[in-house]
Amino acid sequence: MSRRVYIETYGCQMNVADSELMLGLLCREGYARADDPADADVLLVNTCAVRDNAEQRVIGRMGELQRYKRKGGVLGVVGCMAQRLGPALLAQVPRVDLVVGPDGYRNLPELLGLAQAGDRVSDTEFRSWEHYEDVPPVREKAPTAFVTVQRGCDYRCTFCIVPRTRGPERSRKLADVVREISGLVAQDTTEVTLLGQTVNSYHDGEHDFADLLRAAGQVEGLRRLRFTSPYPADFTTRVIEAMARTPAVCEHVHLPVQSGSNAVLKRMLRRYTRERYLEVMRELRQAIPGITFSTDIIVGFPGETEADFEQTLSLVTEADFDDAYTFKYSVREGTPAVRLRDHVSEDVASSRMARLVDAVRGNARRKNIARVGQIHEVLVERPAKRGDLQLARTRTNQLVLLDLPASAIGEYHRVRLTGTTGSTFTGSVLLPALAVL
Ligand code: SF4
Repeated sequence: MSRRVYIETYGCQMNVADSELMLGLLCREGYARADDPADADVLLVNTCAVRDNAEQRVIGRMGELQRYKRKGGVLGVVGCMAQRLGPALLAQVPRVDLVVGPDGYRNLPELLGLAQAGDRVSDTEFRSWEHYEDVPPVREKAPTAFVTVQRGCDYRCTFCIVPRTRGPERSRKLADVVREISGLVAQDTTEVTLLGQTVNSYHDGEHDFADLLRAAGQVEGLRRLRFTSPYPADFTTRVIEAMARTPAVCEHVHLPVQSGSNAVLKRMLRRYTRERYLEVMRELRQAIPGITFSTDIIVGFPGETEADFEQTLSLVTEADFDDAYTFKYSVREGTPAVRLRDHVSEDVASSRMARLVDAVRGNARRKNIARVGQIHEVLVERPAKRGDLQLARTRTNQLVLLDLPASAIGEYHRVRLTGTTGSTFTGSVLLPALAVL
């Protein structure tokens, strides 16, 4: 009987894609996937290091997973937290047998062999050539898929641990990405999200991100193309033109701003100003009518004054974001921001966070109420968490709950938005369906 592997994934979409890659690697070596830790010989936790509480959650979860570890079984930590802490994690969590960073997955079969024989092993070397090009990811069959096009990051934002956990930026060859997308379309996937830490700085030595968008958009049968996350300063005219002229590219951009204050942006080493950021938004709005924006914002970054924070609040209004992910600054050992002076107290950060969330929600709510009654094309993605409804998404990234059977997953429909909670929508399907796949 083949050995079975259970992988639990935390963090960003890149980690979701990496877990699919690890499954691909291990299935090639004769492992089978387990959906329940109780059924597995190998338990892997794919981790995030971006925030301290994410790491604490993983440590707690390792304690729970220990109960499922069989005799001769392996409990491993992989991903960014594994890379950040390295072999120290083996000392910190005694039942952990294996620690492997994002560039070491190719060695997993061999390392698992050693761990099964009783060794405690780690691999946290950076391999700037590593793209896992020859490894076909094992994915759940689904109408949407993530495709990694770039690994690592060459920026040095002072709050961010990613350059230390994922190493330098490298891009896959355009032809390889297009081949992977064609393979997905052949399996009935019709929406693809291109992934990279600064995805629009993609360059494979010959082709830039504009070329990649145009080439991916030409794959027959691909109806929707998304990407995340772009870096604001890397939106060239070529990229904006390619977005506007590639029908598959959806009218939504997740554009992390982090702060509305130029002084804070400078301390964060973000390489744009508030003014440049807003200019990029204007250029995108002009080129792509109806485009929507979401963003990431950090509050309580070291040195953030009340006046700086008010700049962030005013940016929320001025940028007119459709949605925003808000975070309190989290100290990450190993990042330059640790050494910055004037750390903001927890109380001040919490109160700013509450004000920011109010502003973001208020803006999103106002915009979403105005959308009720509109007609949109949606792709039915998956069952909703509650009830017998299905979850669908507009091209502009609004989530719509629909009263459709599960057999509708993968279908495109025209729907009228009939109501909103302020963040998600209810909708009714207009007949006939645009296309049934
Ligand atoms: S661009 Fe900045 S925030 Fe994004 S991964 Fe790179 S260093 Fe981190």
